[in-house]
Amino acid sequence: MASIRTRITASYALAFAGTMFAFSAVVWAERRDVAQQDLRDRAITVADLGIRILRQAGVGNESMTIRTDSLIGRELTTRYKAQLDVLPGYVIIGDATHAVYESPAVRALSEKDSTNLTAAAFSLTVKTDALVDLDDERTQILLVVRFDSLSAPPSVRRVVAGVSTQPLAIAGAQVLFLSFVVAPIILLISAVTAWTLAGRMLQPIDQMVNDVEAISDGRSLHRRIPVEDLGDEIGRLGTTLNAMIGRLETSFAALRRFTADASHELKTPLTVLRADIERAMTTRQGSTDQLVALEEGLQETTRMADLVESLLTLARADEGRFDLHREPVEMEPLVREVVETANILGEAAGILVSVPVLQHVTVLGDRVRLRQLFLNLVTNAIKYTAKGGKVELTLESTDGGAVFTVKDTGIGIAGADLPFIFERFWRVDRVRSRGGERGGVGLGLAISQWIAQAHGGSINVASRLGRGSSFAVTIPALPIADGSRQTTDGG
Ligand code: ADP
Repeated sequence: MASIRTRITASYALAFAGTMFAFSAVVWAERRDVAQQDLRDRAITVADLGIRILRQAGVGNESMTIRTDSLIGRELTTRYKAQLDVLPGYVIIGDATHAVYESPAVRALSEKDSTNLTAAAFSLTVKTDALVDLDDERTQILLVVRFDSLSAPPSVRRVVAGVSTQPLAIAGAQVLFLSFVVAPIILLISAVTAWTLAGRMLQPIDQMVNDVEAISDGRSLHRRIPVEDLGDEIGRLGTTLNAMIGRLETSFAALRRFTADASHELKTPLTVLRADIERAMTTRQGSTDQLVALEEGLQETTRMADLVESLLTLARADEGRFDLHREPVEMEPLVREVVETANILGEAAGILVSVPVLQHVTVLGDRVRLRQLFLNLVTNAIKYTAKGGKVELTLESTDGGAVFTVKDTGIGIAGADLPFIFERFWRVDRVRSRGGERGGVGLGLAISQWIAQAHGGSINVASRLGRGSSFAVTIPALPIADGSRQTTDGG
C-alpha cells in the first residue's frame, strides 16, 4: 500500500487532470462554435458584397451582366468580373444550371476540386451550409448561398461564397497545445506542490510514529510524545497517545508488581513446605516431630491452594471469563449462615458478634460468590480486631438496594492507606501480616470488590486508625413482591 503522501499527491493530480480535461473540452467546444459562426459571417458578408455589385446593373438584367461566348458558354461580362474578382475567398455565381462566374480562388483550383465545389454550390439552399473537402489545399471550404431566386427569367439565380475552415483548425490546435503542453506542465507543478505540502503536513505524524516506536519497546513507557500545538488534530492525537501510554505504563507496572508479588507469595510457603518435608524425612517414623512437620506442611499446602485459587479467580475475572450464576437470592438466610460462621470465629478470637438489623431483601446474584464476599469481610473484621472487641453485622433493605455492613472496633486503617486496600497483594503491614496470626496475602478485598462490581454493586469503607472500620456492600435489590419488611435481632 502506498504511503498517505503518495495517495494524497496522486488523488490531487488525478482531480486536477480531470478538471483540466473538462475545462479544455469546454473551451474547445466554445472556441469551435465561435470560429464557425465567425466563418459563416465572413462568407455571408462576401456573398452580400457580390450581390451588391450585381445589383448595380439589376440582378436580372441579362443584357448588362451576361454575355454568351460560343466557346465557353454564358458568363458575366468583363466589367462585373473585374469588380467581383476583388472579393476574397471562393465565389461562384450561377444561372439556373451553370456557373456564370468563378472567383480567382476557384479558378486556381484543380479540375476535380473545382467540379466538386461547383456541384456543392448548386445543391445548396439558403437554409443550409455545406462543407466541401479540397484535396489539393488539404482544407475544407464552408459554403453559403445568399441569393437563390426562383422567379423567371432572371439570369443570375444564385450567389455562393465560401471561406476556408483553416481558422477552425488553428483554434483546435491552440486548445490542443493548451491541453498537451501547458496543462502537463501545470499538472507537474501542482503535483510537486501537493507532494511537498503533504510531506510537510505529515512530517509531525512521521515524527510521532518514530517517537511511539521508541517508547513502545516496553522499557521507555515513562517517556511521552512532545506535543507542540494542543489545538490542532496532530496535537490531539499526541495527547490521546500520551494518555494511552500513561495507562499502559500503569497496567504494565501493575502486572509486574502482581507477578513479583504472586511469585513471592508462592515462594515462601514452598520454602516452608520443603523444610517441613526435609524435617519429616530426617526424624523417626511416627514420632511427634515428624507429625508436627507433616501438619505444618499440610497447612502450607492449603495456604498455597487458597492463594492459587484466588489468583485464578482474579485472572478469570480480568479476562471476563468468569460467569456468575445469577438467580434470585434471599439475603436474610444467606446472612444468617455467615453470622453462624462469624459466631464460631468470634468465639475463638474472644470477639462479640452481634446482628442488630436483619431485613428481608432479595437480589439477583450468585449465592456462592456473595457468601464468599460476606465471609471475606467478616473474617477480616475478626482478624483485625483484638480480643474483647466487637463486630456488628447488619442487613438492610434501602432505596439503593440490599446493604450488608460489617462494623468492627479493631485496629482500623489510616486515611493514607484507605485508597489502596482493594489493590492486589496490598496489606497495611506487609512484614507482620504474612505468616503471623493474621496471615492474609492481600487478595481478599480485591476479590470482594470484583464480586460486588460484577453484581452491579459497590463496597464503601469508613475507617479510623485504632478505632475500627466499617465495610458496607450495596447490591441492587429485586423489587419486593409483598412489600413487607421484617426486623429481627440476633447475636
Ligand atoms: P488480607 O488477606 O491481608 O486480609 P485483604 O485484601 O482482605 O487482604 O485486605 C487488605 C488489607 O486491608 C489487609 O491486609 C489489612 O491491612 C486491611 N484491612 C482489611 N480489612 C480490615 C479491617 N476490617 N480492619 C483493618 N484493616 C483491614
